[in-house]
Amino acid sequence: SPPPAPKPIRRLDESLINRIAAGEIIHRPASALKELLENCLDAKSTSIRVTVKDGGLKLLQIQDNGCGIRKADLPLLASRFATSKLSSFSDLSSLQTYGFRGEALASISHVAHLSVITKVRGDNCAWKAHYADGVLAPPKPGLSVDPKPCAGNDGTTIIVEDLFHSTPLRLAALKSTSEEYARILDVMTRYAVHNPSVSFVCKKASSTTPDLSTPSGNTVQQIISLLYGSHVGKELLHVIASASSKKSRKRKADPKGKGKATEDDMEDGKSQSEDDQSEDDVPDDASWKAHAYVSGVNYHAKKMTFLLFINNRLVESPRIKRAIEAVYNPILPKGTSPFAYLSLHIDPRAVDVNVHPTKREVHFLDEEEITQRVCDAIQEGLTSNSGSRTFQYQT
Ligand code: ADP
Ligand code: MG
Repeated sequence: SPPPAPKPIRRLDESLINRIAAGEIIHRPASALKELLENCLDAKSTSIRVTVKDGGLKLLQIQDNGCGIRKADLPLLASRFATSKLSSFSDLSSLQTYGFRGEALASISHVAHLSVITKVRGDNCAWKAHYADGVLAPPKPGLSVDPKPCAGNDGTTIIVEDLFHSTPLRLAALKSTSEEYARILDVMTRYAVHNPSVSFVCKKASSTTPDLSTPSGNTVQQIISLLYGSHVGKELLHVIASASSKKSRKRKADPKGKGKATEDDMEDGKSQSEDDQSEDDVPDDASWKAHAYVSGVNYHAKKMTFLLFINNRLVESPRIKRAIEAVYNPILPKGTSPFAYLSLHIDPRAVDVNVHPTKREVHFLDEEEITQRVCDAIQEGLTSNSGSRTFQYQT
């Protein structure tokens, strides 16, 4: 029989579009929390306190002491693609903030009840506002949508209630609130390690004692000891790797790569044309730096703990994880794994942050070479007894 007559194409209903888009960014309470933590850090907070009910499904409240939000900006706060962090496409390549898409709060407002209390330093009072589906909403039916003055500390409190109430299938897919709470603690733990100068507190609403609490002004080693245990902390090696000075010197001296071959080129055995090739992709002053805190030969665990930050973003890379784990293969007992926290700083122009709204998947230039160099540095740190310039023991 012939195929059926085609159905007409129709534009999806706006609120359906937004709900689908929200689902791409906010998968579960921990992904909402990640976005909200990044906003706190973008606002230069030094204290971040999280309160959770039912694994974040009933309540996820994040209080910070950052710069606050101007009252005049509150009407736009939860609208899609509204941001204070990016104004032109070229800004993307020099981005210093986590956020830039203005999608997080918008998304949350489509799948949860969102309210905000915020106070800018020097203002007389704080302002409280409620949001639904991207716009200001009344706190109760019949009331005004206008932000209300209230008492409050400098900074911002974001209150997310009844997450996924509007997407029952997503809600049903999240079975265990204790699993969701564990993921929330995991995200907090990772950000706490990466931001040792910031104090993080996470607790259940029903409890007075926090499940995670870091004082501000710590060292990375202290935070790792505190959160992952002193058995990891006392075994840590701090490994530093970076682009060779040779390479950067060469780039500085011959920024366009169009000059004559330098002595370094000769040493490398590279032809000028090979260099021209790479100069096409790599910015002239391309360079990178890696800090890794890795466990030494006396620590091993059943599963590898791997924390990866690229330009301060929490990301995942199974490839880099496997490469580091492989360094330990000949050293650790069979079937055991190390602890590794790696913070990579790469020229922002070499990282494509625009891959996906969640920004979890990051691609960058020279990924293989950088990974290799980091692994070499870790290897060197593990095999030298002391005195290497590339690593230092924690005290
Ligand atoms: P983005 O972070 O991509 O800009 P968001 O939806 O996460 O988008 O946030 C929208 C805007 O709200 C931010 O650009 C910022 O101006 C403001 N904002 C959100 N959270 C905070 C906060 N905790 N402190 C100060 N400003 C905030
Ligand atoms: Mg954001």
